[in-house]
Amino acid sequence: MTAIDEIKSRLDIVELVSQSVQLRKTGKNYTGFCPFHANTRTPAFVVFPDSGTWRCFGQCNEGGDIFKFVMKKEGWDFPEALRALAEKAGVTLKVPTPQEQAAAEEYDALRLLLEEAVTFYRHQLVNTSAGKPVLDYLRQKRGLKDDTIEAFGLGYAPLSWDATLNYFKNKGHSEQELIDSGLVTVREQGDQHLATSDQPADQSPVANGKPTEGGRPHRQIYDRFRHRILIPIRDERGRMAGFGARIVNPEDVPKFLNSPQTPIFDKGRLLYGLDRARKAIRLTEQAVIVEGYLDVIALHQAGFTNTISPMGTALTDHQLYLLKRFTKNIVLALDPDAAGDKATLRGLQLARQTMDHESEPVFDARGLLGFEARLQADIRVTTLPPGMDPDDVVNRDPAEWQRILGNAKPIVQHVMEMLAAGRNLDDPKVKNEIAAQVLPLIEDVPNPVERDTYRQRLARLLRVDERALMGTLPPSRRSRRSAPRSTVSPQKVGVRSAPGLQPSPSLGEAGLSTSVAASTTSPVESHCIGIFLRRPDLIYRVDRAMQERGLTRLANEDFQLAEYQAIFTLIQESIEQEDVEPLNYVLNRLSLPMMDVADALLHRTEKLDPNEDKVLEDLVRALLELRRRHLRQGIEHLRFLMEESQQQGDRMATEYQQSMLQYTVTLNRLYQAIGQYTERSAIQ
Ligand SMILES: [Zn+2]
Repeated sequence: MTAIDEIKSRLDIVELVSQSVQLRKTGKNYTGFCPFHANTRTPAFVVFPDSGTWRCFGQCNEGGDIFKFVMKKEGWDFPEALRALAEKAGVTLKVPTPQEQAAAEEYDALRLLLEEAVTFYRHQLVNTSAGKPVLDYLRQKRGLKDDTIEAFGLGYAPLSWDATLNYFKNKGHSEQELIDSGLVTVREQGDQHLATSDQPADQSPVANGKPTEGGRPHRQIYDRFRHRILIPIRDERGRMAGFGARIVNPEDVPKFLNSPQTPIFDKGRLLYGLDRARKAIRLTEQAVIVEGYLDVIALHQAGFTNTISPMGTALTDHQLYLLKRFTKNIVLALDPDAAGDKATLRGLQLARQTMDHESEPVFDARGLLGFEARLQADIRVTTLPPGMDPDDVVNRDPAEWQRILGNAKPIVQHVMEMLAAGRNLDDPKVKNEIAAQVLPLIEDVPNPVERDTYRQRLARLLRVDERALMGTLPPSRRSRRSAPRSTVSPQKVGVRSAPGLQPSPSLGEAGLSTSVAASTTSPVESHCIGIFLRRPDLIYRVDRAMQERGLTRLANEDFQLAEYQAIFTLIQESIEQEDVEPLNYVLNRLSLPMMDVADALLHRTEKLDPNEDKVLEDLVRALLELRRRHLRQGIEHLRFLMEESQQQGDRMATEYQQSMLQYTVTLNRLYQAIGQYTERSAIQ
């Protein structure tokens, strides 16, 4: 759900409009006096709670959704309306304030610096004698092809305290920039740290501070990454965020090293490889999570391009939400150690020692089950053959990887099998121990049918009576089952509930029904806008088709949702300029929540028919259908308004009648046009 959808689902249009317009229920809709034009005796302003829209059938003859309403009422543009309604709805938005804007520019500068670093490290890998053995290692030991190494931007950080530092200082970057980027690191001299392979000795020639006075410490700056394979890490949009670094020399520690936490490198929010995997994840409707960057690369090379990896930490809700935008089917491919670790099976947050492993446990049964329930995702677990990494498997036989994925099991079942593996199930103590660990997990499963199935399976596995199994559970746990679990916890989504909004249950329901209705009325709109995003030039051809049939050209009013209107305006602008490629023109001007909308639209129209005439025909038909709906709705309400004003002897009655007539004429033209299209496609 995008932030915009979230806002719409939380705000009730009737309640919102009621704050400035007195509304009266008429049938399933509400009417009132239009706040945008001088009033007459009959209310010409209608709110449609089902679709979350409003319309003035009087002088304005205009309508839209909640955003359009506040835009018009307050004279705001879309971003302003978005900010205000987000606050009202208690949805946290990343709409930049001036400070954030400044920060964003700083981040852009950081990303640019990191891009330069990618080039620098790649040069070290490919063109230097020091990089040669590392390149050979990647090619021979890891089986990576040159174009894979290039595509993923792999590099080599030379064995030096200051090669990176000096290179970028000579290019005019300040020390502070380099520190902020995480490429270099600082030590206050006088710290009681021992010099290790990871820190230079105090006498190191790099010490660049002034000589100490009276033992006052001075700063020492040195390269963070030395003699390591460097793996650029990008966010889901492909923007540089930081580096992962892996040792070359087996003696070095730590084995894996990431960029430090910076504003653009947040380990809990990034997923390695997602920028390259997102398309395949959507196509295959599955995301596969492995535990290493080089494994991701090897799997992509073998054609399994829906693979990603967390950043050496346990999976976070943020990462799973990010993933949920692309698919709800997630498979964790774990090495058997992690998958069978008793502590993580019980869902305890015990970190594994990271000396040998790239990561903390990815698998936290309880946490993942909770996530699965909250977001209605489908999370499965599969394990690798003992002692093998994904890249070993796929280099040996790609079909085997496919088999491993095919063996993925639901979380609870995985835990059951892992706990039972190699145990003496005739021993009552063992049975009891396993039941005590699995039953709480089963109780966390929100679906009663699934829950029963798991209980039966557990009973069969342990060869006990299911009723006996239930008896082992303390009563307090059993009753927890009735608590609703599928609701999204506000803290986890990063939204807070607005005061005065959440407590009213009736409002909650109204908000929900609005969002449900809106999502059923907008597919045609999203389809059309999605096509225009991809093929903006079709606007001209659609306009011509409309005009040939005596219909008006495309306009914002053809779309009811404000975010679509805003995007449509940008698309129109994009084809009137020639400096930038139209899609980029549009995307560059979108705020983050709007990016989500555009992203979803592009996704909808990914499989566009290559036959342009077909696309056009389909598009015109969809747009005619949209207009037909609007007109029908309009006529219905004009009739209602006319009858009401006739009863009250209002002179507006004639005006409504005239509007109705105009609407009917247009509708007839529309039917003719729609008829032509149906005939034409019938002939073809
Ligand atoms: Zn009006």
